[in-house]
Amino acid sequence: MSAQPLFNRLGLIGMGLIGSSIARAARAQGAVRSIIATARSAVTRRRVTELGLADQVVETNAAAVEDADLIIICIPVGASGAVAQEIGPHLQPGGIVSDVGSVKRSVLRDMAPFIPAGVHLVPAHPVAGTEYSGPDAGFAELFVDRWCILTPPDGADEKAVERLAAFWRVLGANVDTMTAEHHDLVLAVTSHLPHLIAYTIVGTADELSQVTRSEVLQFSAGGFRDFTRIAASDPTMWRDIFIANKDAVLEMLGRFNEDISDLTRAIRRGDGDALFNHFTRTRAIRKGIVAIGQDSPIPDFGRPHPDLPHEPLPRPYATDEK
Ligand code: NAP
Repeated sequence: MSAQPLFNRLGLIGMGLIGSSIARAARAQGAVRSIIATARSAVTRRRVTELGLADQVVETNAAAVEDADLIIICIPVGASGAVAQEIGPHLQPGGIVSDVGSVKRSVLRDMAPFIPAGVHLVPAHPVAGTEYSGPDAGFAELFVDRWCILTPPDGADEKAVERLAAFWRVLGANVDTMTAEHHDLVLAVTSHLPHLIAYTIVGTADELSQVTRSEVLQFSAGGFRDFTRIAASDPTMWRDIFIANKDAVLEMLGRFNEDISDLTRAIRRGDGDALFNHFTRTRAIRKGIVAIGQDSPIPDFGRPHPDLPHEPLPRPYATDEK
């Protein structure tokens, strides 16, 4: 638990995976004195009440920001502008308005016009998630040792930015700050492009007429299974991401197409050296991600197995040391 609450009243708009995880983590850490929450549908609001995720669950977005000194909007990015317009007149001077959207340039563009002077808009993106949605999917540890990227606009109040950074640190996250443009370019390659590839390959396999659907499912033990997990991510959220981050995704897709052409040529020519060198480079990237603690070295069989080691292997890349 943090020594002292950092905010008096946290207003959460959207109580899916991310909103409900923030509520759980903020409670667990004592980061705020009280939480007021809302969601679009009565079903979700009822579930939030049943789960006891907030001190108060209200019906409208305007009601959720009353007297809140920190407001975090946790909805698909395409809806941020409309919600900002709704809450704008009800915001408290000195308060901070933030979000968790996976694209930052469009969020800033769509929300900024509706945030009155004296209220601090500090967009953010916790780079943490799962393929599940809704208030039952959240958990308090989601942000621990993950990164939260803040993208304050030019001239943003430094104290407000630091207060929001402190909040995310209390939830367990590491915090970095960058421009919205840079964020969108980085995430296009680390998150958006991989999702597009997963959505494509799972769809392609599904459409292959010579392979029956049952074979695709039955023999999914290889790389395909990992893609299906990513391709199970929320369709609304990802539709909005690709529309909102069109330019950066198209830029990265252009580079990807060039690289896949190179690999295609290497396969066609039987150029084993080119393939080996490429795969050696990519394996080193995976090792680097494990080394900085952003993933576990535990082998992932995708299902409980009695023989599966529960501790990280002592030297998971031992064969590389030869
Ligand atoms: P989620 O579990 O599907 O929850 C979305 C929430 O937004 C729900 O409460 C939903 O209300 C509400 N909502 C949906 N459409 C809305 C609209 N048009 N107006 C107002 N509220 C609306 O989604 P999530 O995974 O928490 O994602 C929320 C945000 O976090 C997205 O911007 C996403 O880009 C970002 N993000 C996601 C991840 C991830 O891995 N999932 C990671 C980092 C950031 P109802 O339940 O009532 O429909």
